[in-house]
Amino acid sequence: QRIVPEKEIPFYQKQKRVALRNCGLIDPDNIYEYIANDGYMALGKVLNDMQSQDVINEIKAAGLRGRGGGGFPTGLKWEGALKNESDEKFIICNADEGDPGAFMDRSIMEGDPHSVLEAMTIAGYAIQSNKGYIYIRAEYPSCIARLKKAITQGEEIGFLGDNILGSGFDFTIELKYGAGAFICGEETALIHSIEGRRGEPTTKPPFPSDSGLWGKPTCVNNVETYANVCPIINKGADWYAGIGTETSKGTKVFALAGQINNTGLVEVPMGITLQEIVYDIGGGIQDNRRFKAVQTGGPSGGCITRANLETPIDYDSLAAIGSMMGSGGMIVLSEKDCIVNIAKFYLEFTVEESCGKCTPCRVGNKRLLEILEKITQGRGTMEDIETLKTLSEIIKDTSLCGLGQTTPNPVLSTLKYFEDEYITHVRDRKCPAGVCQKLITY
Ligand code: SF4
Repeated sequence: QRIVPEKEIPFYQKQKRVALRNCGLIDPDNIYEYIANDGYMALGKVLNDMQSQDVINEIKAAGLRGRGGGGFPTGLKWEGALKNESDEKFIICNADEGDPGAFMDRSIMEGDPHSVLEAMTIAGYAIQSNKGYIYIRAEYPSCIARLKKAITQGEEIGFLGDNILGSGFDFTIELKYGAGAFICGEETALIHSIEGRRGEPTTKPPFPSDSGLWGKPTCVNNVETYANVCPIINKGADWYAGIGTETSKGTKVFALAGQINNTGLVEVPMGITLQEIVYDIGGGIQDNRRFKAVQTGGPSGGCITRANLETPIDYDSLAAIGSMMGSGGMIVLSEKDCIVNIAKFYLEFTVEESCGKCTPCRVGNKRLLEILEKITQGRGTMEDIETLKTLSEIIKDTSLCGLGQTTPNPVLSTLKYFEDEYITHVRDRKCPAGVCQKLITY
């Protein structure tokens, strides 16, 4: 029987694997399989041939931006920490992946743990730090086991610890476990949690690259960002910058979910259109139903409608249509999904996960959720729809951290594109998708 090459399978034809390059291809428990696939070559190159600023220049020239959702240029973040002359600095890997339906980081850590360790060590060299922490959710036991084993292997061979590869550079990595709080994915809350304090955000500035863990310069990057570092060093900034668009370089991993034929992780070059992801890679909508929207960015994101299917997937194009890249959750909705119910689902999540420190987020989101519950139960009024809009804007403007500032996005975005569905729920006491019907009480 003929084995079909990847390039002949539609699901793979438009994908490009950089961050996921080794996932599924190597035994993640065997460091020699990683080494046989160019593993630790980038670290050797950095320690032998490059100064800290050279590494940062390469990352800057590649145009790598943070894959956790913020999109901040990674090289600039590292440069800020390098310039700080503190006696102690830290590297943190944010592995507290918590968006509903998103498992990009989990796959990288489970499938290619050494790629994260090697990149963190390179980042340590770049900012002149000797200590790294991986802040990982305790709900990822298989990732924890893989990372622990990989750290031990790296220490045994000499890729971690003192005098790495005889260079005189020391770097160690320690795991810290999150206790299931979504807000600890926010970098200041994450830092407080490592310090043993309550996982609540603080205002920025100061940014962690100036004053982070225990007041020392700290670079926090997420797992997928690190997974891009070694290929940049090995293949060069020009190669990486040749993938993607003018302002968004490289690839992005998405977790495709919802009413789509091919679900799962996909890695695509920036600039690909949503149409290509949904129909060419995702194989279209289940049961040939009508496409309604895609929700990107999880509880912080917004929806992309049929009218914007040709929008290139990059940081700026998504922001321009009121959505966002986010960390990579991509939920495809069909005519059978109720848009008000989707907004309610995300609000339920954020109400549960708000840390409660500031009033607009703690109380405001609860009020939003109550209104959405009223509307899906057929008890809403036209005034409620206006309140949703004004209250959402207030929460966005006055919340302390990124979580509260973005939680109204699913409400505002669905109202922007599907206000008619909200009105049908209120005026006609009907759910066009038939989802809320059983909830409508009169
Ligand atoms: Fe906490 Fe929400 Fe305020 Fe952020 S916006 S500090 S999550 S209450």
